[in-house]
Amino acid sequence: MIRYISALLSMFLITSCSGISVSGGADMASTVRLYVFNCGMLRLDSLEDFSISDDETDIRDLIVPCYVIEHKKGVLLWDGGLPSATADIEGWHGEAMLSRLDRTLAEQLPAIDLDMNSFDYVAFSHMHFDHVGVANELSGATLIIQKPEYEAAFADEVTMPGAIPALYGGLKEAERIFIEGDHDVFGDGSVRIISAPGHTPGHQVLFINLANTGPVLLSGDLYHFAISRRDRRVPKFNVDREQTLSSMDTVEAFIKESGASLWIEHELSFFEQLKKAPAFYD
Ligand SMILES: [Zn+2]
Repeated sequence: MIRYISALLSMFLITSCSGISVSGGADMASTVRLYVFNCGMLRLDSLEDFSISDDETDIRDLIVPCYVIEHKKGVLLWDGGLPSATADIEGWHGEAMLSRLDRTLAEQLPAIDLDMNSFDYVAFSHMHFDHVGVANELSGATLIIQKPEYEAAFADEVTMPGAIPALYGGLKEAERIFIEGDHDVFGDGSVRIISAPGHTPGHQVLFINLANTGPVLLSGDLYHFAISRRDRRVPKFNVDREQTLSSMDTVEAFIKESGASLWIEHELSFFEQLKKAPAFYD
């Protein structure tokens, strides 16, 4: 009888110990929060440049999101949306490509008790104009950037299509961490930059391991639309087609291994279903 009770007792202790360690792990991960912001929209006449023919889909609008990742060791901004000046004109405007920005990131951040000086780190999936719109407003953040992306974006003569150096020139001398490959932002595996070049020389995607939501992978412009992923469509303006296809292989293998959900950043129909800040994913 005593042996039975002590066996039960030790079972209970083992169970409760493992219970503690599981919930301890969850507490660690639950300190990571992901906030989603609308940082503009683009409207195109045609998706031909994305290697999608116009009769394949009615989609012509792209959402341009920004993401804030809060970790106990710091705050990361991932992607910076359309140029803040886009908001100076109300509604859709522009010529070949229409754009709109209803509220700048600076106007939206106070809803989560942050401002443009709150970021410890900033990383852009790449340096195209629709991902770096707030770059010049980020004086205090450390830029995490792939070396080939920095070299292409800050060259004396920028030849990368889609890059507008005036939008991010303020970051040329910013504190920075040069990376060449993957990078664990906070050192505990919960927020990781994954190298995925080809769209631009140093294009990258972001893995975030969320305790309750599960692992998420933010696509950058590896894919612009669900159809791009389904059929491995490579935009015509990518700097390297073969490198893009190889990055798709790498990222798809990573998704399989990690079980992450891929969030295609520009896909409006997906974005519409997401919780927006001040709500968050944890
Ligand atoms: Zn883009």
